[in-house]
Amino acid sequence: MANLKISSLYKSFGAENVLDGIDLNIKSGEFLVLLGPSGCGKSTLLRIMAGLEDESAGDIAIDDKSIAHLPPSKREIAMVFQTYALYPHLSVRGNMELVLKQAGYSKAEIKERVAESARALELDALMDRKPSQLSGGQRQRVAIGRAIVRDPKVFLFDEPLSNLDAALRGQVRLEIARLHQRLSATMVYVTHDQVEAMTLADRIVVMNDGEIQQVGTPRDLYERPANLFVASFIGSPT
Ligand code: ADP
Ligand code: MG
Repeated sequence: MANLKISSLYKSFGAENVLDGIDLNIKSGEFLVLLGPSGCGKSTLLRIMAGLEDESAGDIAIDDKSIAHLPPSKREIAMVFQTYALYPHLSVRGNMELVLKQAGYSKAEIKERVAESARALELDALMDRKPSQLSGGQRQRVAIGRAIVRDPKVFLFDEPLSNLDAALRGQVRLEIARLHQRLSATMVYVTHDQVEAMTLADRIVVMNDGEIQQVGTPRDLYERPANLFVASFIGSPT
């Protein structure tokens, strides 16, 4: 179980308010998509959830326990980045092991968890390669593999398909959907692509300019958009 609750979250960079009072209750096991135009604050929200960025005000809790004070390695949250963010000097195995070393796992446990994750994502044949020796799709699979090694309660994906070509996009999207089914983990997935959002989401959060415009199922948003922004962004008839 991993219910994620975000309360009155604000973030400013200098004079710019990037997140302007975000309240969000993400249900355990839910696939939640954050959808909004470039620059609306999606990545900042994810980075704050992961602990990679400090909030200006507000709280984040997993199962009613605040995690706002915890460093990333203690949050039971894993993030998959648009640019993969793999360490270039480490092999696939090294990249996966490092996460567990940082979190203080024993050698035996590291070996077992890495092997298990490699099997789950069919990475066995790639384990000794460096990121530069992988295709874009393989790199993204490794990034996902690195995210699952710690068996996190919550997965965050920041536009994971945006650097892949069209053919691979469908494939990786399917892999992420399968992963969600298999792990029944809570997933928060950022995109600016309406089609991606509509096909993956249990619920979609439409954001604009640091604020939530509407939260609902793909069908809710399409049939009953809360305002003109949502209607035009989703492309529903008005
Ligand atoms: P999105 O992911 O929706 O495209 P971001 O969260 O990346 O949006 O950015 C939202 C706004 O915050 C943008 O105007 C961006 O320029 C600004 N921003 C993001 N990170 C920083 C930072 N570290 N310093 C200053 N401004 C930032
Ligand atoms: Mg972004």
